[in-house]
Amino acid sequence: MNESLLGALRRAVGEPHVLTGDDCAPFLTDWRKVVTGRAAAVVRPGTTGQVRDVVRACLEHGTPIVPQGGNTGQVAGATPDQSGRAIVLQLGRMNRIRAIDAENDTLVAEAGCVLQAVQEAARAAGRLFPLSLGAEGTCLIGGNLATNAGGTQVLRYGNARELTLGLEVVTAEGEVWNGLRALRKDNTGYDLRDLYIGSEGTLGVITAATLKLFPLPAAQRTAFAATASIEQAVALLARARSMLGAELTGFELMSAVALELVPKHFPDQRLPLPAAPWFVLLETSDAEGESRASERFDALLSAALEAGEINDAAVAQTMAQSKAFWHLRESITLAVAAEGKCAKHDISIPTSRMAAFVTTTDRLLQERFAGVRSATFGHLGDGNLHYNILQPKGQDARSFAATQQDLSLLVHDRVRDHGGSISAEQGIGGLRTADLQRYEDPVKIALLRRIKQALDPRGLMNPGKVLPWQTMP
Ligand code: FAD
Repeated sequence: MNESLLGALRRAVGEPHVLTGDDCAPFLTDWRKVVTGRAAAVVRPGTTGQVRDVVRACLEHGTPIVPQGGNTGQVAGATPDQSGRAIVLQLGRMNRIRAIDAENDTLVAEAGCVLQAVQEAARAAGRLFPLSLGAEGTCLIGGNLATNAGGTQVLRYGNARELTLGLEVVTAEGEVWNGLRALRKDNTGYDLRDLYIGSEGTLGVITAATLKLFPLPAAQRTAFAATASIEQAVALLARARSMLGAELTGFELMSAVALELVPKHFPDQRLPLPAAPWFVLLETSDAEGESRASERFDALLSAALEAGEINDAAVAQTMAQSKAFWHLRESITLAVAAEGKCAKHDISIPTSRMAAFVTTTDRLLQERFAGVRSATFGHLGDGNLHYNILQPKGQDARSFAATQQDLSLLVHDRVRDHGGSISAEQGIGGLRTADLQRYEDPVKIALLRRIKQALDPRGLMNPGKVLPWQTMP
């Protein structure tokens, strides 16, 4: 590595926080182990000023920067390329909660705070920070914002963008933008906050954020329900929305194929209901108290049973049972990874067209790639499915890998036919760049390119991600 850059990085963050050689290895492979890159160094700043100094040093040396949080992303967005020119800027040391204003329902967290630590800090102040996802013990809030993460509470509270009031960003030009406002109304010019959120490290480095807090629910109810089809699950969703309104805080759909992988790979976990084609995990949050929560939840389940939308339901009787239900749901990603090769699709479809999409696509896949297994699950309440296609039993991984491109094309073409999106919550990263180009409006792509050009004119922020065909001067 260039000695002058190395010296500048060491001066910026301190020698122990610049990793080189073999020490970089843990930061160079994506979570799914699809891509392994190389890096000149892994740099771990502790303050916003240090991030600014690192960005300036990289600008001076023409060195690309790959921001990295908890490295739990599913699209290899935080992994450097093969050139070995880039540095990985890992934000884990910036892990302070800077402030909590319970009266204003806001919290200021640095980018390196683990999501779970943010939730716990809010709870300690008697408040709820509702962003919640399976990786919450590992992912960092900066990564959540950079990917505009979704998760299991979106239908009630929105995704990361809707949970953020302000940002602090080190721009690609090495300036610090202090946008840490705690205001719910602020129409002062273009919305830079919403531009940096979801930009996947390609426009600048998020160093801190002002996040929205909510009242803690007085009571919650959780149930696992068995249902015969997606049509019935969608009907149940409509019923739950109309009977419960904003009290409905979770609505997750799981196919039997996906759910049964959990006890197979994690034998300490058990399914709460006998076999069924589909399962729904429902959660409600009540502002008043236990008896009202039970009354309204039971009324919903009775009506759904009577209408045939569900065939059976297990209602959690204790907090431990509720946690076990959620643990089952959140273990699916890990169980799918343990099962073998998988073509992953993070799609959204209008819920009214969801059943038609799944039925058509499942059938076409069997016609063309006989034996593949649809381990479908996801946040049905948001119209978001993880439409995961596992290799046929007995097929070797290499020959399945050879079919993956055609298989994903078939899936994504059907997503387009049904008015959907090829990236609901995980972003584009390095793995879905060709899909973005294929399926998005060309005028949108041109506008994205102009934004990238304006905010990162040297093209040093996470090159190759989101818009890899970008040509820089
Ligand atoms: P990383 O993976 O490190 O980075 C992701 C992207 O953000 C990269 O492009 C990186 O360059 C950029 N980045 C990271 N930090 C910064 C920063 N400070 N400034 C600028 N750019 C930055 N995602 C969901 O949305 N919903 C889910 O329900 C969900 N469930 C998951 C369950 C499991 C078991 C796993 C493993 C993942 C899941 N994910 C989910 C995906 C992943 O957890 C999210 O994308 C998460 O937001 C990524 O955070 P991270 O800190 O790991 O970011």
